[in-house]
Amino acid sequence: MLAMAETSESSKQRLRLRVRGVVQGVGFRPFVFNLARACELTGLVGNDSNGVFIEVEGTPKHLQRFQQALKENPPPLSHILSIKAEAIAPRNDKDFVIVASKTEANANTLISPDICVCEDCLRELFDPTNRRYRYPFINCTNCGPRFTITKDIPYDRPQTTMAGFQMCAECLREYDDPTNRRFHAQPNACAECGPQVQFVGAEAEQKNPIAQTQASLCAGNIVAIKGIGGFHLACDAYNDSALQTLRERKGRVDKPFAVMVRDVETALRFVEIDEAEKLLLTSKERPIVLLKKKPSNLSALIAPGNEYLGVMLPYSPLHYLLLDSKLDALVMTSGNYSNEPIIKDNDEALQNLATLADAFLLHNRDIHVQCDDSVLRVFEGHELPIRRSRGYAPFPVRLPFSLPSVLAVGGELKSTFCLVKDDYAFMSQHLGDMENLETLQAFEKSLQQMQAIFRVTPEIIAADNHPRYLSSQWAHNHRGARQLIGVQHHHAHIAAVLAENQWNGDALVIGFSFDGTGYGTDGAIWGGEVLLADYSTFQRVAHLRYAPLPGGDASIKRPYRTALAYLWQAGIAWDEVLPSVAACPANERKILQQQLEKNLNTAQTSSMGRLFDAVAALAGVRQTVTYEAQAAIEFEAMMDTRVADAYTFALCEGEPLQIDFAALLRAVVADVQAQVPVPTIAAKFHNAVANLICDVALHFRAKFNLQQVALSGGVFQNVTLLQTAKAKLLAEHFTVFTHKLVPPNDGGLALGQAVIAGKLSSEN
Ligand code: ZN
Ligand code: ZN
Ligand code: FE
Repeated sequence: MLAMAETSESSKQRLRLRVRGVVQGVGFRPFVFNLARACELTGLVGNDSNGVFIEVEGTPKHLQRFQQALKENPPPLSHILSIKAEAIAPRNDKDFVIVASKTEANANTLISPDICVCEDCLRELFDPTNRRYRYPFINCTNCGPRFTITKDIPYDRPQTTMAGFQMCAECLREYDDPTNRRFHAQPNACAECGPQVQFVGAEAEQKNPIAQTQASLCAGNIVAIKGIGGFHLACDAYNDSALQTLRERKGRVDKPFAVMVRDVETALRFVEIDEAEKLLLTSKERPIVLLKKKPSNLSALIAPGNEYLGVMLPYSPLHYLLLDSKLDALVMTSGNYSNEPIIKDNDEALQNLATLADAFLLHNRDIHVQCDDSVLRVFEGHELPIRRSRGYAPFPVRLPFSLPSVLAVGGELKSTFCLVKDDYAFMSQHLGDMENLETLQAFEKSLQQMQAIFRVTPEIIAADNHPRYLSSQWAHNHRGARQLIGVQHHHAHIAAVLAENQWNGDALVIGFSFDGTGYGTDGAIWGGEVLLADYSTFQRVAHLRYAPLPGGDASIKRPYRTALAYLWQAGIAWDEVLPSVAACPANERKILQQQLEKNLNTAQTSSMGRLFDAVAALAGVRQTVTYEAQAAIEFEAMMDTRVADAYTFALCEGEPLQIDFAALLRAVVADVQAQVPVPTIAAKFHNAVANLICDVALHFRAKFNLQQVALSGGVFQNVTLLQTAKAKLLAEHFTVFTHKLVPPNDGGLALGQAVIAGKLSSEN
């Protein structure tokens, strides 16, 4: 063997490899360095704005072994999208080396999302003999913050918010040593040279800020804690009075809070966890996972009326330190006022969270862009995102085709934007509801960052057709010479689910776009829409029959008003036995009646979300809500899944087909009058909507011979409905597209907008 290796000297070859994907800041170069040496190759590896470039020289056999390992066992945080190889002339270099980073104008590389602390770092964190023992910013090439500290590419320390920290001799030695697991770990730091935590509050003098924070939490206080993507407001999850105070201060009556628990074993005391859920909960993305509650001693004020609890595990070393005490479960909610972006800077927090928090745990590693926690649930073994943010953004959604560069600005609620470059759709993190200046500013800053790190200069802007959305107005004001394409809200939902499923778009699909609110082409509020759609066109072939929504927002917050309006529309008397009628004061009823009869200050809506509200209210679930979709969520939670019975919608011929709910409401009212239990009514209604979807799909398959069905819009966060509808469609042999990568709610809207606009502009 040895003799053969010696004689093969003349047969040395050199390859130039170009690796694209998430390959920077994830330990790729040291991995290549060590692999090349192990394979007895010489050459070089480096980063540039397009990813990683490699030159390797050696025998064909060694080169092959190298290429195979590169493909099959890359570093855990990397995500290779492509490897291109070409043969070049041998150079006979002596060694394998890592070369300096290069910046190029037209770049194409990906930045890793922020990743939870790894096992190796955790071990060191709790090892009293380690020099980083209990250091809250411990990290390595396999873990730590990335996206939220990155200002530009290539991903190197001067381009991050770590630029101001000078590494000590020891840290620098690790950073420069290719065999060290902190080689070129840009956020590398230790207690000597790196960021520090600071406690601000009235607690008795203790030297250790973490111990002070723990003491404050144990005393029932609310502490604003700076994390990876912004501030959390934290309190002891067992403490009712702390929760009560938090709810009062935040003005958040019922909307569920998420809980951070020490570990899976602890979580099992509060929630049920199956294998798929456990995988997601412990994944490096560390999202909030919605899990079925068990009876437990956690405060009942965390998620009242909800059968699910949002649970996450600690993800930063700081979280691990906080929970390494008698505290094993903390409520951790975004540090902000309702629906504004999460606060990320110390000064801003001290100023704006002063009325919400009793104390602060600050640190001086700046967060360049904020990034809220992601929220997911597991549906039929796969992920169903409710909010796609930390751990996921800015990892792209791969499109089934290349498009011109597009910026899609999203909608209004749960705002995100999307940048398209070639066949990548870069979805931003969750920004909040685009209803205020703060969200708009966060949008602009994130947009600037993402345009910089992905080197995208959008030629086309896509926006919702709604003339009063702040996002649409921004698009209008900032379009410059660029093409601005308005996209219908429900078409965007359908395009989003098609695109993430890699649908090539060569046939029309039957799209069910069910949500609360979206601007229709006739100016009405749509939301119970059936569209025959592809990426560039749609036809509204069926919809829920219009009903009046008296006073718009006033009805959304008071579902009893919606219920009364829907009864009026269906010609059903307001019987005082009905909880919604009883909940409406007599004088309000009188005004409502006049409003409806004279059509004063009412909007027409075909919203499925509102129909859920109306039926839930009629059944007596609740008459007023304090957060979006609360009545529908509680209605779903109450449902008796053993009931197979269903109400029926009537399909009335017309163009478009009218989905009539009058008979359905009459049946609901009769059941309420007959004191049928609410869980039965809930089941019969959910089954009715699932049957409706299947019946309408069959109707259009018979008419147009279409095979594909797409389900999108916020209503499909209701997994009971999603599951029932999907099962019925599959039983009829439809192909069914549902969400796995982006949320069905408006958080996924920008993806659909981007693809529609990109397609339209390339067709013209
Ligand atoms: Zn690590
Ligand atoms: Zn150091
Ligand atoms: Fe929507």
